[in-house]
Amino acid sequence: MATLSPDPPSPEKPKAVAFDFDGTLAAAPWPSYASPAADEVPAMCDLLRVLADTPVTVYVISGREESQRDPVVSWLRQHGLAYDELILRPDDDTPGPVAVATYKHTRLKEILKSHQVLLFADDRPDARRLAHQLGIPTVDPT
Ligand SMILES: [Mg+2]
Repeated sequence: MATLSPDPPSPEKPKAVAFDFDGTLAAAPWPSYASPAADEVPAMCDLLRVLADTPVTVYVISGREESQRDPVVSWLRQHGLAYDELILRPDDDTPGPVAVATYKHTRLKEILKSHQVLLFADDRPDARRLAHQLGIPTVDPT
């Protein structure tokens, strides 16, 4: 009887997930930014807390500019949400809804070089559509 040889070591990349911020982790009426007192989007924040105890790399990718980093960091800290990297747009990036979705798409593409992205959660359909084109499963938090 033939014996099965063990599978060769998998070249599998480390796993990651990516969450948008406004309207995905922090409740916000799109296209407004979430206020510092914004409520959580419960399912997404609970999922993020579960992931904190795993080796999965957590990215928060927001269309906000770098100048908005402090309020985002502060909200995440206040809600006890851990993440590995917070990615914001450069302050001089071209503003506008199309630019935001494209920016997230570009950053996700970079992450895919080093990670397997298990899901991308974003309340914006255009951002989800672009992520889906990269083969990333997407979640609508609303
Ligand atoms: Mg959003």
